[in-house]
Amino acid sequence: MLSSISNRLFVTQLFLLLILSSVFIGMVVYTAPMFLQELNQRLNLDLADNIVKEKKLIIDNKVNHKAMKTVLNGMMLVNPSIEIYITDPNGKIMAFSAPEGAVKRESISMAPVKEFLTTDVNLPVLGDDPRSKKMNKVFSVAPIKNGKNLDGYLYIVLAGETYSSIFKLLESSYLFRSWFFAIFVSILIASIIGFVLFRYITRRVYLLSDEMERFKKTDFTHHVSLPERFDGRKGDEIDQLGSTFLQMSDRIIKQVKLLQHNDNSRRELIANVSHDLRTPLASLQGYLETLLLKNDALTSDEILEYIQTAYENSQRLQKLISELFELASLENNDATLHFESFSMSELAQDVSQKFKLKAKNKGIKLETKIPEMPAFVSADIGLIQRVLENLLDNAIKYTPEGGEVEIALSIDDSTIVTVIKDSGQGISELEAEHIFERFYRIEKHRDQDGSGLGLAIVKRIIQLHNSSIAVLPAENKGAIFSFDLPCASIA
Ligand code: ADP
Repeated sequence: MLSSISNRLFVTQLFLLLILSSVFIGMVVYTAPMFLQELNQRLNLDLADNIVKEKKLIIDNKVNHKAMKTVLNGMMLVNPSIEIYITDPNGKIMAFSAPEGAVKRESISMAPVKEFLTTDVNLPVLGDDPRSKKMNKVFSVAPIKNGKNLDGYLYIVLAGETYSSIFKLLESSYLFRSWFFAIFVSILIASIIGFVLFRYITRRVYLLSDEMERFKKTDFTHHVSLPERFDGRKGDEIDQLGSTFLQMSDRIIKQVKLLQHNDNSRRELIANVSHDLRTPLASLQGYLETLLLKNDALTSDEILEYIQTAYENSQRLQKLISELFELASLENNDATLHFESFSMSELAQDVSQKFKLKAKNKGIKLETKIPEMPAFVSADIGLIQRVLENLLDNAIKYTPEGGEVEIALSIDDSTIVTVIKDSGQGISELEAEHIFERFYRIEKHRDQDGSGLGLAIVKRIIQLHNSSIAVLPAENKGAIFSFDLPCASIA
């Protein structure tokens, strides 16, 4: 039962309420009799004085029993519990109203009497109860004087009720009964309100804890959904906690996905690398072995051919390894780019010039369309050159003899768009989806020389320039690759 936070709060509240009400009840029980005595004494403060002024209770140093009886009769009608005593100036009891044998003391102590008669007396003042050897009770007292002489005192014990227990007090007092009933009802109402409020306030804690549990059960892959108020913009500590949890869970999901992705990529990379390296390596080994074993049986032309093929395979290996390193260093987040302002037109011209001979050898018409306006970009010139070379190389490689390849620049708003298109077989929609993945090669091109890493490198370079490269899928109509770079502001 106490495992839930709202129940704990409820029990704590109940406990505090009970402590508070116990203290209050204790105070009432302790002070109520004192208060009643004080009230009784305050109401009858002048009672003895008034009687003494009216009746001559001592005449010639003797108690006037007749007058005393009249007083007593009068008193009995008003308050039968009142007891009257007449004492001499030292407190010795000379006459009393009680039945014979009921009075246990011969005299009363004068200290409380004197205290009562001072002007700034603090009520209640308790004096001796002549009917008991130990008890003290509230009283009213007045000196009986004959001229200037003090004949004695009229000492009235204002007995009243004494309550031996709180239950007796409760039984007899409507006021106290009402108080205790009010306390009981307040505790009940406060407990009910507290219970409902704690449930309401802690509702979000339960929601959070449920969602956290679900998140844990799904091995930290489930997307957490919390009500809008947990968006972290406002709210109390619980809302803040929810918002932090949301952010944390998003981060964890991303990290887990990234880890899984990296792990898959690593496996894929190892599989691809080992496959792509093994083929040229096996071929290289084969030719070298043949040369070693059959050296004497081979003609010099055959030897030259074998060496040539072995050399080509070693070149393929070298290209593959260097492209792998290049891609790895570009994918490394620490890759640093050296941005500078340069003319994209000039770069395109230069690269195109470099491929002129290769295109001519294959009977391909290589055209360059450059705008008349200066086309300056801010980028890493070495890397952009790498992009253009790779795209032109591919365009020439995958375009049959007699075809056309074009590199065209255009200025669109504040960007320079570069398009490289060819009249080859083009790329289908399905192939376009994978063309930029590393090691991806279109099935029909697998017998051609290539690593499948060039376009992955190109994509990464353009990404590092905060842009993107696109391929227009159009089968049998040639391939069209395009990317844009922001114009450089020329000072
Ligand atoms: P590689 O050319 O070394 O194989 P790339 O990453 O540069 O590697 O290209 C990946 C694949 O995309 C190529 O194998 C080829 O199948 C296809 N490809 C690239 N450019 C073209 C193009 N201009 N026309 C048709 N297919 C292309």
